Amino acid sequence: MTDEFDYIKRNIEEVKRRAALAAQRSGRNVDDIKVIAVTKTVGIEKINCAIDKGLNILGENRVQELCEKYDNVNRDCKWDMIGHLQTNKVKYIIDKVNLIHSVDRLELVQEIQKKAEKTGRVMDILVQVNVAEEDSKFGLSLHEVKGFLKTINKFDAVKVKGLMTIAPFLQNIEAVRPVFKQLYKIFVDIREENIDNIDMKLLSMGMSNDFEAAIEEGANIVRIGTAIFGKR
Ligand SMILES: *Cc1c(COP(=O)(O)O)cnc(C)c1O
Repeated sequence: MTDEFDYIKRNIEEVKRRAALAAQRSGRNVDDIKVIAVTKTVGIEKINCAIDKGLNILGENRVQELCEKYDNVNRDCKWDMIGHLQTNKVKYIIDKVNLIHSVDRLELVQEIQKKAEKTGRVMDILVQVNVAEEDSKFGLSLHEVKGFLKTINKFDAVKVKGLMTIAPFLQNIEAVRPVFKQLYKIFVDIREENIDNIDMKLLSMGMSNDFEAAIEEGANIVRIGTAIFGKR
């Protein structure tokens, strides 16, 4: 690890420090919150640096980039798919990823089932929710989530582990907070309903701009790019 990338180590320490404080404010332990290093557009050396610093879950939003890095990062790590996933690309990642955060339609679940079955694995997924109903973002509306879960819980090679959202990008974090609150509420509602084959355990929300508020509101996965690797 060269000095050139020392800033990444310092950034990671700072993210961890801020995450720990936010966890404390929400009465939780920072060890229960996973920080995913979002590595899109980031080169291999920098990624290795983050892994060496203890961040061994990496998030990518494009299939091609994920596959290239999967082949080139030869460290012990796991890859999460966090971006919009085209149905015809499931086959490229089915044997590579740990968790798909961005499942937003039945057709995609059907394809994941098919390819997971073929590979002989069960694929863990999160359902993406477009809480603020922004036109520019993928995901189900809040009111669609429960019905969707009750449709997809029949697929035995697909395991729902929780929910994910990308909040609107706003400077005023207090304006974003209701998004996190709403998703947390439905997350708990669904968990308490104990739907068959639905394991409401993971809540993936919060990015560089808003991860502290997300943690305060119940996130147990945050996806951080810029605050670790710098501006893309
Ligand atoms: C890029 C990206 C992130 C990380 O964004 P930063 O603002 O750089 O932390 C998180 N989640 C998704 C889905 C992304 O595409």
